[in-house]
Amino acid sequence: MEEKRNRPSEDNTHVTASPVSNFIRFIIDNDLASGKHCKIITRFPPEPNGYLHIGHAKSFCLNFGLALDHQGICHLRFDDTNPEAEDMEYVDSIMADVKWLGFDWQNKLFYASNYFDQLYEYAEYLITTGKAYVCDQSPEEVREYLGTLTRPGINSPYRDRSCEENLDLFRRMKAGEFEEGTKSLRARIDMASPNLNMRDPVLYRIKKSSHHRTGDKWVIYPMYDYTHCISDALEGITHSICTLEFEDHRPLYDWILDQLPVPCHPRQIEFARLNLSYTVMSKRKLLELVQGKYVSGWDDPRMPTLAGMRRRGYTPEAIREFSDRIGVAKANSIVDYKLLQFCLREDLNKKARRAMAVLDPLKITIENYPQDLIEELEAENNPEDPQAGTRKLLFSREIYIEKEDFMEHPPKGWFRLSPDNEVRLKHAYYIKLKEIVRDEQGNIQSLVCTYDPDSKGGWTNDARKVKGTLHWVSCNHAIPIEVRLYEQLFTAYDPMETEEGKDYKDYLNPESLMVKPICYAEPSLLLAKPQEKFQFLRLGYFIVDSDSTRDHKVFNRIVTLKDSWNKTQKKS
Ligand code: ATP
Ligand code: MG
Repeated sequence: MEEKRNRPSEDNTHVTASPVSNFIRFIIDNDLASGKHCKIITRFPPEPNGYLHIGHAKSFCLNFGLALDHQGICHLRFDDTNPEAEDMEYVDSIMADVKWLGFDWQNKLFYASNYFDQLYEYAEYLITTGKAYVCDQSPEEVREYLGTLTRPGINSPYRDRSCEENLDLFRRMKAGEFEEGTKSLRARIDMASPNLNMRDPVLYRIKKSSHHRTGDKWVIYPMYDYTHCISDALEGITHSICTLEFEDHRPLYDWILDQLPVPCHPRQIEFARLNLSYTVMSKRKLLELVQGKYVSGWDDPRMPTLAGMRRRGYTPEAIREFSDRIGVAKANSIVDYKLLQFCLREDLNKKARRAMAVLDPLKITIENYPQDLIEELEAENNPEDPQAGTRKLLFSREIYIEKEDFMEHPPKGWFRLSPDNEVRLKHAYYIKLKEIVRDEQGNIQSLVCTYDPDSKGGWTNDARKVKGTLHWVSCNHAIPIEVRLYEQLFTAYDPMETEEGKDYKDYLNPESLMVKPICYAEPSLLLAKPQEKFQFLRLGYFIVDSDSTRDHKVFNRIVTLKDSWNKTQKKS
């Protein structure tokens, strides 16, 4: 059967004609050119102990992307060796997220737990070849004997047990005869190694917990370092790409494979993790935010999880583009979230239908507009995409504009509505201020304006210059909507760089969510579909949130139109 390529199931916008080169690509190209491999196999190995975040997306865009570009294949493997933290909910969410980003593992779905029998056999093999022993030290004693970077470790008193004794004890560990923490299986390497990972690392520990896939079959579970390299070898992975913190584990990865009759010896290659400014990116911390109810869930639109970003309105294309642009490096750094927003705006600008909504309404009565007249005005759906067509807007005597688009005493250079400035209502008419209506305290309540009937569509034949263009909705036709505006979840550039006595949670941004329960939008938005995205003119990009019902629409602001919004506002 012909093997299909792992290609994104949607369009292939991220598949560039000549992918940007990087050191990993270089290694792969060489391995193919030299004939070391005729086909490459990569893998993405998440632990199902939380939802995936944008950092994982970088990892799987890289792994699936490299496979795709070299006619290879990428496996999805759940690294499920830690039964307490893992759950099927996470397995399902991870598969949904990888698919959402457009990648396809075809029939190459694996679980490390599928290899438990084989891993166990290999462990007995290590015992019989004198490369592993059962140690009775408690975890605390193991740590004590480990030594430090400047002090060598001390051999465990159990290190020289005979093969027979080790085998017997290991089998009895498997049979459940011993309590947690009383025994472990350790590799016999070198307690004086300058690399702490090589000082007789634990390979198996006793854990009497149920596993989400193997149930109660096992009471001993293999450690990550032992499991990972063997899983890679069993699947015939050619290039095992992981993050920098595993660089010091590479000698152990290689040592284990060198001791065993495994079918192949994959090459581990490390690259720098993605860190994003103003956010945290560890599943443990994200779980803490969810459990502590600092956010509404894993899919809170402020979360850096893919579920959160999807709900917020991020597109797979924008995330893939971002992942391509940041490239692959060997040194850890923090990427500015503004780059991600840039990729997002570029994509949404092409796709999002335009609409008008007013978030802070100020009512205007157009005095010279006929009482009962309702006009239908033509508006383009997307100037970037003529195929998107046009729609009808309803215009009438009473409209809402944005409160901040009017100033009674404006500074110099103000082009929006003021006692002296005539402005254009987008797709409609020019209007001029006639009168300010105030309440008893003197606060502005509404405005009375006049319009120029000869400016229909937003232009006139004379040489009149009208610089400001405002968005608006017709009071009698607008629908009320709820709008949620977001800022970054943290106030610190790097919330992990804490001051003395502080915790990353101390940097949570109290203003990261602002709910506006009553805003007004043009009536066409009543028909907006779940997750449909719009550009609300001058306000940014918005998505229909999953909290919406048929009659009550909730919109999340995905991102504002520009970074330098305040600057351009003064000019508009
Ligand atoms: P976290 O520290 O966020 O909990 P993890 O490394 O424990 O993440 P895994 O499920 O083990 O999460 O990760 C699966 C894969 O994703 C691994 O290959 C890991 O190296 C990679 N990965 C995790 N975080 C990032 C990141 N921020 N940038 C790039 N790759 C990442
Ligand atoms: Mg991990």
